[in-house]
Amino acid sequence: MGLGIKFLGTGAAEGIPAINCDCDHCTRAKLEGGSLVRARNAIIFSLPRYELLIDTPPDIRALLSKNKVRRIDGVFLTHSHYDHSGGLEEFLYWKADLDLFADPLMYEALQREDWGSRLPEIAFHFPCHPGIAVRFDGFFFTPFAVYHTVPCFGLAFYESERKIVYTSDTSSRFSNYAYCLMRQADLLIVNTPRFSPPHEGHITSIEALELKKRLGIKRLILTHFNHHNYPHDEMEEWAKVQDGVTIAYDGLEIEV
Ligand SMILES: [Zn+2]
Ligand SMILES: [Zn+2]
Ligand SMILES: [Zn+2]
Repeated sequence: MGLGIKFLGTGAAEGIPAINCDCDHCTRAKLEGGSLVRARNAIIFSLPRYELLIDTPPDIRALLSKNKVRRIDGVFLTHSHYDHSGGLEEFLYWKADLDLFADPLMYEALQREDWGSRLPEIAFHFPCHPGIAVRFDGFFFTPFAVYHTVPCFGLAFYESERKIVYTSDTSSRFSNYAYCLMRQADLLIVNTPRFSPPHEGHITSIEALELKKRLGIKRLILTHFNHHNYPHDEMEEWAKVQDGVTIAYDGLEIEV
């Protein structure tokens, strides 16, 4: 049995088309739709007997409806940026119990004045710490810290012989510990808003490809694109001539 991964949203902070933007990329997205349109970042991992949603973007209500998601057991929040956590409040209307995996300081930061006190109504907070594995029945994941403009955490999933790593928003600089977790992964998923050139806050698509080669990673999926990156069809053309690279789009479902 494989692990299922579904990409609900594959856009960066502003989504595509960005509001009030008439650049070529956004204009094409408005006219042609399809995989040129990207909602903000959310991924569902179908793990053995556990459905884990990664991040709750402001679009989450529409994304869950559109993808007919009826079951989520837990939510892992990678960081407090609005494009990753802004939809958490929607879960006040989710009719089942949820686990909320979040770094303790991030959980505190999310307790905004107007609704933060209701977080315990939304979910059972499970404090997560980088480098400390969270064991389930039949798999485990290990959160690890990445360099971003606010504290941010990637995840390494281990199930049977498989290792899948998701970095979330990260700069191209990683800790040696993170390199250990990523090395020879079966699948690495990286958020790359831009294609190039190097950028302080975010790893680029080109740098993620170099990382894949250097660490002997079998397959790379790029996601979390912004309108400065190439449109989806052009990214796919580029990925075709690379080895083991997939460009995520909203609704992409894979088995690992
Ligand atoms: Zn982001
Ligand atoms: Zn634009
Ligand atoms: Zn971010």
